[in-house]
Amino acid sequence: MKTNTKIQIIKQNNGFTIIELITVMVVISILAAILLPGILNNIGKQHKKECITNQKAIILELKSKRIENPQITMEEALPEILEKTKIKCKGGGTYTAVDKDSVACSVKEHGSETAVEEDVKNYDTPITKPTTP
Ligand SMILES: [Zn+2]
Repeated sequence: MKTNTKIQIIKQNNGFTIIELITVMVVISILAAILLPGILNNIGKQHKKECITNQKAIILELKSKRIENPQITMEEALPEILEKTKIKCKGGGTYTAVDKDSVACSVKEHGSETAVEEDVKNYDTPITKPTTP
């Protein structure tokens, strides 16, 4: 039978055609183009959160130093704090003292000194007792 041999020949050729391979590669590259920016953005947000936490830790370390030396400024304490705590920005930034109370990261997206200052102010706010009638 002639048709039987034709079918056998077609079935033996079971590799992918160039069109199928190109289609798969195009689909994979489209998925990568969609997903990659989101993944990179999430990594950046994570670095920012960690950096803000680091800045708060530096502020708290400064406060603990002020128990012994109330006049110490951030400029004076920061090198020692960074050496002692090994705090580093994962986004590649470096910490610098902005004024006597605040610290900032060299990566601008990682929070300004005012945000950190506000947190410290909130932390410093004394608990007000409710007024009794
Ligand atoms: Zn940073």
